Amino acid sequence: MNVLRTLEDLNLFVSKIKQTGKTIGFVPTMGFLHSGHISLIHLSRKKTEVTIASIYVNPSQFNDSNDFEKYPKNEKNDLALLEQNSCDAVFIPTRLEIESLKKVSVDLGDLDNVMEGRFRPGHFKGVVEVVYRLFSVVKPDKAFFGEKDFQQLLVIQKMVSDTKLPIDILGAPVVRESNGLAMSSRNSRLSFEAREKAGFIFEILNSFGQVKRSVLENRLQGYGFELEYLETHCFGNQNRLFIAGVYDGVRLIDNIKIK
Ligand code: AMP
Repeated sequence: MNVLRTLEDLNLFVSKIKQTGKTIGFVPTMGFLHSGHISLIHLSRKKTEVTIASIYVNPSQFNDSNDFEKYPKNEKNDLALLEQNSCDAVFIPTRLEIESLKKVSVDLGDLDNVMEGRFRPGHFKGVVEVVYRLFSVVKPDKAFFGEKDFQQLLVIQKMVSDTKLPIDILGAPVVRESNGLAMSSRNSRLSFEAREKAGFIFEILNSFGQVKRSVLENRLQGYGFELEYLETHCFGNQNRLFIAGVYDGVRLIDNIKIK
């Protein structure tokens, strides 16, 4: 696997691939990789000829500096996982190089006023900035995003459509731990006991519609989950139920498809 740490290395790698006419699949991440990220690598390998991942913890998308500082890192393990899963290259840029690239700003409309947009002011602006910058240098044909961050997937689709970038944005299903907890790099910050118990989030999402909302809210409270939102939204022809809140000091999000 090619480990590309500078724009110069990346540009060289990308131009060589472009010369061969092969398609590029891109999986942007913030590292501390798990099976959710790896499912995106597998999807990219299935849909394109060369897969490039990136690892970059983007400060501009954190509205909470404490969350940014505490964000888990393990580059050695990330490189081993990517290598084992036949990723062709990984781009690990410095902040300086990323910030040297042109950025865009896109009017996200309502997408920026609900759920993550409402509870994390400035978050999607930061996401759009960094993903646009990465797209402008990786120049992928297709890019892969997890439905775990469903609203983010929609934001990226809007950004690509508004800026007319010739990139297909594909989503992949949420990968879960055996108890149903959506995999997330942040799960490593939960205590062992909390992580074991946290399957209640998925259980509660699945009982939505069967019992009163107040019952679900009480159950969440009983587990010590500080609810930020529990909302249904219809995007295109898909109805989904979204949840966010703080559990054991860690902010968690999840969503499921509903009828
Ligand atoms: P992150 O490193 O958290 O920025 O995530 C990088 C990509 O992996 C994003 O597209 C996420 O939506 C995706 N991802 C993270 N967790 C999961 C999961 N449990 N299942 C599927 N995709 C995920």
